[in-house]
Amino acid sequence: TPVIGVLALQGDVAQHVAMLERAGAKAVPVRRQAELARVDGLVLPGGESTTMSHLLGTFELLEPLRERIAEGMPAYGSCAGMILLARQVLDGRADQRQLDGLDVVVRRNAFGRQVDSFEGVLDFTGAGRLHAVFIRAPWVEKAGDGVEILARIPDIPEAGEAADRIVAVRQGAVLATAFHPELTGDERVHRLFVGMVRGT
Ligand code: GLN
Repeated sequence: TPVIGVLALQGDVAQHVAMLERAGAKAVPVRRQAELARVDGLVLPGGESTTMSHLLGTFELLEPLRERIAEGMPAYGSCAGMILLARQVLDGRADQRQLDGLDVVVRRNAFGRQVDSFEGVLDFTGAGRLHAVFIRAPWVEKAGDGVEILARIPDIPEAGEAADRIVAVRQGAVLATAFHPELTGDERVHRLFVGMVRGT
């Protein structure tokens, strides 16, 4: 059974732990370097990316985490986690730090006010058609050649400006979604990630 950590500095940690367990992993919270060293993969939950970036510094996890990701440890970021994994953030705070795990540029709080908490059905490569919940979510504004696009916002009138925007990506062992599968009771995205961890 793979042991998967959930970065537990801030954000919706308990929901990810529950979903990972349902998807067949052993899930453990990670707050310290020694805990990070023991996991086979890591989930970076939703929350507030500027706060999490700050806490990663305080807990001296930023460099160790960046190193493990660079060495190929599987990582999955949802929402704020996607922001942290990105190479670059638009509309971030000047002191926001990046983990550089994905060759993408993300826009923070990208959905306009009307669609701030957009929900919709999308086709997710490798997980199927699923209901996605977006809460002050980012989107991927630009993705490098090595980045696989797994899902986009459907082109429907309710999506407004967000239509066709990229909201799920994978690059090697790093997976990211702009939405929160941990809130829907559907563990397919977590299963996909557990499979990625098993494969390494
Ligand atoms: N808006 C948040 C941020 O910038 C992300 C929101 C979320 O994770 N639900 O970090």
